[in-house]
Amino acid sequence: MTKGSIPAVEDYRRLREEADAIAARLTEVHGSQIVCRAGCTDCCQNLSVWPVEFYAVLEDLRAAGCSHLVFDESASCGFLKDGLCQIYPFRPLICRTHGLPIAFEIETAEIAVSFCPKNFQDWEQKGLTFGPDNTLPIDRLNERLSQIHLCFLEESGDKFLTANSRIPLKKLVELL
Ligand code: SF4
Repeated sequence: MTKGSIPAVEDYRRLREEADAIAARLTEVHGSQIVCRAGCTDCCQNLSVWPVEFYAVLEDLRAAGCSHLVFDESASCGFLKDGLCQIYPFRPLICRTHGLPIAFEIETAEIAVSFCPKNFQDWEQKGLTFGPDNTLPIDRLNERLSQIHLCFLEESGDKFLTANSRIPLKKLVELL
């Protein structure tokens, strides 16, 4: 069985689609408050991801015939080339949330919201409030991803992987 045919990898791809759907809805809901554009790389940084995400991205790149990627060691994320992400269609889940209003639980069990400072520059003057309808529930997505990660460990039977395993995304360039 290749890692790409492991059921958890398909679950990961479904979660990725859900994240994209949420991102698209929030982008529509917030309209001009979100100024994220191609060429802005402020949120980009080198990442390590769980194996299920790594192997899904690897399989997707292979399926897309992407056999050669350049990793720029000097960039904030080595996959940036001329200010654009070389693996954009297959980028990890966290990259799909860049810039959006992210809702997360803090110690007091309250919900906090964070977003890129380039976005929502006049949200207070506009009287905008944030709630479940106009934020991205990152804790729920992370919890689902964590469950999928654990399923992947079991289904892959790979003895070298543990619950704490993270794989630097950079390793993709070696395996394509
Ligand atoms: S993978 Fe792409 S979107 Fe994600 S941090 Fe790197 S360059 Fe940015």
